[in-house]
Amino acid sequence: MFNKILVANRGEIALRVIRAAREMGIQSVAVHSTADSDAMHVRMADESVCIGPPSASQSYLSIPAIIAACEITGAEAIHPGYGFLSENAGFVQVVEDHGLTFIGPTAEHIRIMGDKITAKDTMRKLGVPCVPGSDGGVPTLEEAKRIGEEFGYPVIVKATSGGGGKGMKVAQNAKEMEKAFKTARAEGQSNFGNDEVYIEKYLTTPRHIEIQMFGDGKGNAVHLGERDCSLQRRHQKVFEEAPGPSISAEERARIGKVCADALARINYIGAGTIEFLYENGEFYFIEMNTRLQVEHPITEAIFGVDLVREQIRVAEGMPMSFTQDDLDINGHAIEVRINAEKLPNFAPCPGRITQYHTPGGLGVRMDSALYDGYSIPPFYDSLIGKLIVHGRDRAEALARLNRALGELIVDGVDTTVPLFHALLQEPDIQSGNYNIHWLERWLETNL
Ligand code: ADP
Repeated sequence: MFNKILVANRGEIALRVIRAAREMGIQSVAVHSTADSDAMHVRMADESVCIGPPSASQSYLSIPAIIAACEITGAEAIHPGYGFLSENAGFVQVVEDHGLTFIGPTAEHIRIMGDKITAKDTMRKLGVPCVPGSDGGVPTLEEAKRIGEEFGYPVIVKATSGGGGKGMKVAQNAKEMEKAFKTARAEGQSNFGNDEVYIEKYLTTPRHIEIQMFGDGKGNAVHLGERDCSLQRRHQKVFEEAPGPSISAEERARIGKVCADALARINYIGAGTIEFLYENGEFYFIEMNTRLQVEHPITEAIFGVDLVREQIRVAEGMPMSFTQDDLDINGHAIEVRINAEKLPNFAPCPGRITQYHTPGGLGVRMDSALYDGYSIPPFYDSLIGKLIVHGRDRAEALARLNRALGELIVDGVDTTVPLFHALLQEPDIQSGNYNIHWLERWLETNL
């Protein structure tokens, strides 16, 4: 059993891990930049270490500083949260070389899934259905144009190292290919230091359906159903729900088994998410995230499990605390991402919180690191809170979300809360009738 773990992150996800550790009787160590000295994760952890100046590259991404913080405090394991170093295979290697435990998958699995071409190739060989497209990387514009003709436009050019919606460009026709190809390559190079791209058929009306996975690293893996994350702006999720309103129990069991068999075969350890586009009753793999995701609480709500606790357990070498047969869905959950952003352009809006009041009551969970008088620093992600509601069915979850949003007070900065008030009035949201393009189209005419 670990005595002490270090949380290599900040904000709500750092709190999430500290809470799980405390319930397990494990001490927690927070790390922070100088901009985060007053942050809630620093206050809540048992110990804290300042690891550098505000810039993430010199603090939350500084591998030597984080390893040093472990040595100083005697932490035996590191939980990376999401973002920052969570999918950095080199980091995992360094952690292990120092005799510490990384709470997450192996460096090898992170490396495979972090390169989208290799990930697709691996998944295809494991029997997972993929989006039709190029067979690996596409090195030249001529080749790109040939693939566009072969699969038929529209197609999407994607950087193999891409993430966070960056490095993806759609070509509606042959004329647009040159620009899409060059831009995706340039974005891949400037954001991820890799200009290799591949091409996929661009699906026109899919939903984004992702399957929550969990493995013990010893050949056992289970799925915890799907989340529908189709409501996106610039390929970034803003509203997620589980189960997916369009997925039947039979489809869930079918795709879930394909995914669980695939991860069992590679001895996957810990939490992971296999992302699909879902159109006309078919699933098409797009990528796998080898970490805990922002939207994991909606899965926790409907299955009644603590995914962070499970991550810590399997990292210690313990078995998973459930089998596939133990996992039953109970009700419906929705998460909305509350960002410090000014509508209608979603411009980041850091600043001081003058008043903060969280909603409560049955089926309401607010994961946030805010407090009265806290100043949101301008250096990091604009996510300041996640409001998660759970109801006996979708209608109850929607009503509860509406009620909880009405109770929430975040004064001093602009937030995305008004967006959710407006979305809840929409018949398509009420009925669950939306795909990955719905929100962008709605924003064009409604904000
Ligand atoms: P990232 O790693 O940047 O998040 P993903 O590969 O997960 O990129 O894709 C993010 C989003 O981009 C998807 O949820 C979907 O909305 C859109 N997308 C990706 N691939 C396709 C495709 N082949 N057709 C249509 N939309 C796509």
